[in-house]
Amino acid sequence: MAIESFNPYTGRVLRRFTAFSWAKTERILTQAATAARTWPRTSFAERARLMHRAADLLRARQDELARLMALEMGKPVADGRAEVQKCALTCDYYADHAEDFLRDEPIRTTAQRSFIAYEPLGVVLAVMPWNFPFWQVVRFAAPALMAGNVGLLKHASNVPQCALALEAIFHAAGFPPATFRTLLIGSGLVEKLIADDRVMAVTLTGSELAGSKVAAAAGANIKKTVLELGGSDPFVVLADADLALAAQTAAQARMINAGQSCIAAKRFIVHKSIIKPFISQLKTHLLALRTGDPLDEATQYGPLARPDLADELTQQVEDSVRAGAKVELFGGQSKPGTALFRPMIISRVKPGQRAYGEELFGPVAIVLEARDEEHAIHLANDSRFGLGASVWTRDPQRGEAVARRIEAGAVFVNSMVKSAPEMPFGGVKKSGYGRELSYLGIREFVNQKSIWVA
Ligand code: NDP
Repeated sequence: MAIESFNPYTGRVLRRFTAFSWAKTERILTQAATAARTWPRTSFAERARLMHRAADLLRARQDELARLMALEMGKPVADGRAEVQKCALTCDYYADHAEDFLRDEPIRTTAQRSFIAYEPLGVVLAVMPWNFPFWQVVRFAAPALMAGNVGLLKHASNVPQCALALEAIFHAAGFPPATFRTLLIGSGLVEKLIADDRVMAVTLTGSELAGSKVAAAAGANIKKTVLELGGSDPFVVLADADLALAAQTAAQARMINAGQSCIAAKRFIVHKSIIKPFISQLKTHLLALRTGDPLDEATQYGPLARPDLADELTQQVEDSVRAGAKVELFGGQSKPGTALFRPMIISRVKPGQRAYGEELFGPVAIVLEARDEEHAIHLANDSRFGLGASVWTRDPQRGEAVARRIEAGAVFVNSMVKSAPEMPFGGVKKSGYGRELSYLGIREFVNQKSIWVA
């Protein structure tokens, strides 16, 4: 894929970039490897000072960054500003807590003194997606840099300007340039980078296919990986749920980023006694949402990030309908090759249909009917994925009991799934492995070294 900024709302190419050659990439890698020897010698206080400055710069430039996202991948500017603010919060969080999270941990043994020391690994490659162009990267970069690692970013090929803007922020904040670099490369050079001895670990957020390729290359070279892949998150509405609140939140949870979020609710598993009013209320909330130019403050959802993503979603829906699914709310693309996709609801989704087994990365809500709680749990778990889930009931204890039985990295009771710097984020099954955020996230890319003094 060419590295170009393409406006999915207007269908115009904004800018084209020449991809870095291997020679240029290798030069940057050499500088990164050199920085990886000196950067860990800086104090936590010094790293925190720079990370707070990065947070300040993110806040100061939020309008400009939100505009870039609107132009390159269609995110409404109001949502873009919220994304940038969350990035700033996370930079502050790791600036404030990294030292505590990585403090030597005494362990009682027969030794005179024994403890775990957390030491940086060195150069970490991050392969990142376009859906949250700043958040996905900061979630990796803030803990990595605070831990004393050095980051190389290979961002998705359709968001090069966002990738360069983030690099500029870290540099303006005072991080030595070689500690965080953007590589404008296609995915073809990723395997070669992973094979290089100077790259110590890789993190990827994206599709299952990209995750498996990157993990295979890392496995062949014995390198640590963290994978944050897709999800088909269940949203379980039990018979005793607050129906109005559940339906309203369902619309919000399905429409995060025009439905292009790994933790967007995708499968609505609803008790049969309330399924009709649930669908009707969900429909009302989805129809009330305003679409338009992502640069317009009033726009609530924009186009999908690329026309091919909308074409693929249409295909998934059409194949499912051909196999027996029922359209409850008509929407979708106005014509093939265009990125705008209006919300849809489909029901009667059964095993064997694409909508049952695959991730629908856009504004299509799948409604599944559950006979009872056991059946709802079965449907929730009958998925290759295990990223997030939410459960709706007026009984918090019941909600917690159901939460424990759902196969997912996170379950929220009476709330939509969301990420926060304090809570670990990641999945099980085909949603990936490893955790980002919290103290667990910063400990992924460190040598957890045992030191024993006899
Ligand atoms: P990809 O997984 O293809 O892209 C994500 C990142 O991986 C990009 O930087 C991409 O680079 C890179 N990449 C792709 N293939 C390889 C490879 N073989 N080796 C190394 N790096 C690779 O996502 P798409 O943009 O194609 O979106 C397709 C689907 O992926 C979506 O419909 C959705 O289901 C899922 N997805 C999930 C996300 C999540 O948050 N978990 C985010 C984005 C997508 P390049 O852009 O240069 O190809």
